[in-house]
Amino acid sequence: MNANVAGQVPRYIRVDKADNVAIVVNDLGLPSGTRFACGLELCEPVPQGHKVALVDIAKGAPVRRYNVIIGHANEPLRAGSWVHEGLLSMPEAPALHRIPAATRARWNEPALEGYTFEGYRNPDGSVGTRNVLAITTTVQCVAGVVDHAVQRIRSELLPRFANVDDAIGLEHIYGCGVAIDAHDADIPIRTLRNISLNPNFGGGLMVVGLGCEKLQPERLLPPGMLAARKASSGDFGVDFVRLQDEPHVGFEAMIAAIMAAATKHLARLNARRRETCPAAALVVGMQCGGSDAFSGVTANPALGFASDLLVRTGATVMFSEITEVRDGIDQLTSRAVDGDVAQALIDELAWYDRYLERGGVDRSANTTPGNRKGGLANIVEKAMGSIVKSGTAPIAGVVRLGERASRKGLLFAATPASDFVCGTLQLAAGMNLHIFTTGRGTPYGLAGCPVIKVATRSDLARRWHDLIDLDAGRIATGEASIEQVGWDLFHTMLEVASGRRKTWTERWGLKNSLALFNPAPIT
Ligand code: CA
Repeated sequence: MNANVAGQVPRYIRVDKADNVAIVVNDLGLPSGTRFACGLELCEPVPQGHKVALVDIAKGAPVRRYNVIIGHANEPLRAGSWVHEGLLSMPEAPALHRIPAATRARWNEPALEGYTFEGYRNPDGSVGTRNVLAITTTVQCVAGVVDHAVQRIRSELLPRFANVDDAIGLEHIYGCGVAIDAHDADIPIRTLRNISLNPNFGGGLMVVGLGCEKLQPERLLPPGMLAARKASSGDFGVDFVRLQDEPHVGFEAMIAAIMAAATKHLARLNARRRETCPAAALVVGMQCGGSDAFSGVTANPALGFASDLLVRTGATVMFSEITEVRDGIDQLTSRAVDGDVAQALIDELAWYDRYLERGGVDRSANTTPGNRKGGLANIVEKAMGSIVKSGTAPIAGVVRLGERASRKGLLFAATPASDFVCGTLQLAAGMNLHIFTTGRGTPYGLAGCPVIKVATRSDLARRWHDLIDLDAGRIATGEASIEQVGWDLFHTMLEVASGRRKTWTERWGLKNSLALFNPAPIT
């Protein structure tokens, strides 16, 4: 069946046989009076991606999708009616105590052997998928100078170092004017430290600071840590350029000092060569943004399938977005490999509950007008569609906010759901490849790490043909199965990781700013 024919046949998708609602697949939605093959007739128009009641639902009765109660009916809902957000009241968030821990049966999927990519090996054992000079900054004050220098590095130096993909500044709004000794200040500081050590940046450290800021270089990169790295892996090439130092007389001198340090680092990076590495060296960060009701039936299940394939190769795969897993906490704790991992999941979610409480909100603050326009009634429905991207593998560990992943398998990297904050924290976790699913569409991209964009709907993939790398909407139209799109995505990952294929955001140079998560006060 091709897309056009599929577009004309009225179709809905029911995720679970226990569900009493389904979502309308057809582009532009369906008019009142439409009759489905099963005999169900719409008693009002239903937009694409929105829910239709499959049976009569009494007032106060549960509305089920993914075999989960996503709400209770505020009024009687007739079979064939449009079940929109205004008709549902949202259930309470599940409790974080007395929930199952590590109860899921063993995962018996066989190991996948023989899959490789061409990557850059680092002295610490990690592997880069790109070869990028990243200039760390200790404070926002230097961002303008670093930005100027980066432009000159790109135009004057990069042409001489053909093996280096890019030069970027790791700019952020942290570093001064902050309560740097506040309890939670550890989070932005270790995030920035670990981003500087991302595998795509080759292990060297080039830092530009101002001089008088609170985040002194020794605090960002403790001398003990630098010494240990040097002892275990030789000279990493650590350079600090401090703009207030006396030798820098005027702006030009500052730029010259940065250019000189950059030249040294570029020469070292330029000598690197791609080598054949096992797929196990991939560290894949997954997230979604601009979600719609298709996210949970097309792109995210396909990503979940691909995630399972990665786990079977021995790779590291991270899913995140705390507010989008909060309603499925019992699913996650039961999938934890042991009680410690289950408890770590609970601890991170409990911390985040308290963080939201301080702001007088809860997880329901997550959904956007675009999510709701795309058919998602509330955070419960959004969460169930989001969690499926984690596939079926056991959860092998939890990466705390801003920390680096230190083990293989499927990990929960605790991050907010905000696209830029999540991407920034996954970079700190050591991500060398990013997969981003979207239903509404977003031009999101990151500097320093390729981002593969997957559309939940073919209509979006067609309109954004030069921004979307893979169309998972083929699943909704019946053109492809979840498994087919999952394998397609898996092979695309190996191609992109090897540098044989550039993503659309790389081709256009689309890069969102780093967004450090700073729950601590500023001054
Ligand atoms: Ca997100």
